[in-house]
Amino acid sequence: MDGQDASQAAPVFILLGPPGAGKGTQARRLESAFGLVQLSTGDMLRAAVKSGTDAGRQAKAVMEAGDLVSDEIVTRILADRLAEPDTARGVILDGFPRTAAQAEALDALLRERGQRINAAISLEVDDVEMVTRISGRYTCAACGEGYHDSFKTPEMDGVCDNCGGTEMTRRADDSAETVGARLEAYHAQTAPLIAHYDAQGALTRVPAMGAIDDIARDLGAIVTRTRG
Ligand code: ADP
Ligand code: ZN
Repeated sequence: MDGQDASQAAPVFILLGPPGAGKGTQARRLESAFGLVQLSTGDMLRAAVKSGTDAGRQAKAVMEAGDLVSDEIVTRILADRLAEPDTARGVILDGFPRTAAQAEALDALLRERGQRINAAISLEVDDVEMVTRISGRYTCAACGEGYHDSFKTPEMDGVCDNCGGTEMTRRADDSAETVGARLEAYHAQTAPLIAHYDAQGALTRVPAMGAIDDIARDLGAIVTRTRG
């Protein structure tokens, strides 16, 4: 794709924000509204852990402690996924990049592919609230619908409203003990990327403490305006 006009290339959107900010929820909304492909490095790593690949074996303990998996592993996983043909529809990166080294690797990868970052969207939330949100959340194993012990329980206890599934799962790192470490990793290593994308002129901040639908509308407007 060398030399391809970046304005014709597949658009790239980045969602930034601390754990619990709603990146996954909003990425799935944008996926269905705009036909973009959600690329969640967290989901990819959890799949690698589950299937016991080398990367998964190395990542498991790190993730459970709330720390960041090595740049090398994560960047390789993301680059492999980006090379698959469905990403030509445009991608929404959820959870990547998370460090300065990952942001640089992404810039280089996109440059090679003749792509650019259409928008880096920072979901602005308060930390204290994130701890409560994360420690009560769980999802339907069958369809991925998200629930919360206090804020969003299914109509019938233990049965998914969306698909009727009865197996609910909680992430191993969604415990109260691990959330603190994840927030710390976010502030130390990921929040500085906000300035990186601001300097590139790609940054938009979106207040994200409100209703999911309202935030989805704001993000949709940004995608429409910047997808080029
Ligand atoms: P959240 O945004 O709620 O923390 P994710 O599913 O994005 O959840 O990430 C879960 C965990 O996976 C992280 O705490 C980290 O250990 C690992 N991880 C995901 N993406 C990256 C990344 N880009 N770099 C390093 N580690 C990552
Ligand atoms: Zn379900």
